[in-house]
Amino acid sequence: MGAFFIGRKSYLKIMFFSLPRHSHALKAKFPAQSLGNKSLWCNMLPWLFELEIVMFHHVEPYAGDPILSLNEAFGKDPRTDKINLSIGIYFDDDAKIPMLPSVRAAELKVVAEAGARPYLPMEGAANFRTAVQHLLFGAEHAALKAGRVVTIQTVGSSGGLKVGADFIKRYFPNTTILVSDPTWDNHRAVFEGSGLTVQTYPYYDAATGGLRFDAMLQALSKAEKHSVVLLHACCHNPTGVDLTDVQWQQLLPVLQERELIPFLDLAYQGYGASIAEDAFAVRLFADSGISFLVANSFSKSMSLYGERCGALTIVCPDAAQAVNVLGQLKANVRRNYSNPPMHGGQLVARVLTDPELRAMWEAEVVAMRDRIQLMRKKLFDVLSAKLPGRDVSYFLTQRGMFSYTGLSPEQCDRLKEEFGVYILRSGRMCVAGLNSRNVEATANAMAAVLA
Ligand code: PMP
Repeated sequence: MGAFFIGRKSYLKIMFFSLPRHSHALKAKFPAQSLGNKSLWCNMLPWLFELEIVMFHHVEPYAGDPILSLNEAFGKDPRTDKINLSIGIYFDDDAKIPMLPSVRAAELKVVAEAGARPYLPMEGAANFRTAVQHLLFGAEHAALKAGRVVTIQTVGSSGGLKVGADFIKRYFPNTTILVSDPTWDNHRAVFEGSGLTVQTYPYYDAATGGLRFDAMLQALSKAEKHSVVLLHACCHNPTGVDLTDVQWQQLLPVLQERELIPFLDLAYQGYGASIAEDAFAVRLFADSGISFLVANSFSKSMSLYGERCGALTIVCPDAAQAVNVLGQLKANVRRNYSNPPMHGGQLVARVLTDPELRAMWEAEVVAMRDRIQLMRKKLFDVLSAKLPGRDVSYFLTQRGMFSYTGLSPEQCDRLKEEFGVYILRSGRMCVAGLNSRNVEATANAMAAVLA
């Protein structure tokens, strides 16, 4: 046990906490001796002390997720007029997470019909997977008919990103994944967690609040062959800056020429232009014949955050390769979490396939998108009136739940401390957290820190 010193605090800690915890091991190690024996204590204490400190002493503290930590800080803030624009969740005008009527109706039907709960297959429920394919590509797409598209149901699209990342690491072990600068923080975490090297390509233009499209194309045209390029299909998180349809068309030949592997992240389908238009890049790539991956989510579009409904789709060169790709995705799922949960996926499948519920859902998505757009307009009106010299039109052109406000980290801190308005220190604001009661206060606070 070597040289050893126990301070008074450690001694007390051992007596109170360690002794009961290790009593079995203690009896086994010191069977014959009584507790009245002084030398027993001399031997036992260092031994207990080592048991206590050695096992996990190398485990470092977790710094916490910046978004979730800020959300927790908001919860603890005692101010009653505080405003939470940190987390990526759609709130309605009453500041509530909506239960969409289409999803509620689907749930009643699914519950009424529910029977036994067997395990789902590793790849998820067949009706969910088919419905996802039709949603992404359109039911009649030639790639689906050719059998070269495989889809698995995943634990949120985060699960889809993770299974996709593991797949890439296994079959392109030395490749690099390029993500936009900036991107959703968890992209880097997921891909690095799978052992991939993550690099960035230029994306956001801080000077204009728009896209550095030429710089992006230039960087990608020099990328190593078979690099993976993570692209936000719509409603870029965190900036709200998207490619136009024409820009997607211009990007495609660069991807083809360098034999890059696109990985589309479609977490906000319907929040950009429409459910079908937001799948523009997915359909364009599928039409072109290139191979690519898509992770898509129903967290936001069906307000099903906690149900963890997502999918991973891989478009392959032909049906034979698709069979093997699906097999390996299943193997990956098996060794991670075995199979996905049942309930949420069945709600999604029902909404997507029941014509009446589908029509309801599409209208609900329009309403959520329009409400965000209205908040953007109000923000723009107040800010442009209060800051006449400043161009804030980017609030109108950026799309989806998020906007990059252009605020510095210090200005974001001021917003929080002086006004109780919480946005990320990167300047990312969740516009979907604004409502008719807090939008003006938010705009006034932003104008004050920007002035
Ligand atoms: N991708 C992006 C860009 C996101 O913003 C999010 C959620 N914040 C996800 C993926 C993951 O979504 P989920 O796991 O809830 O489907």
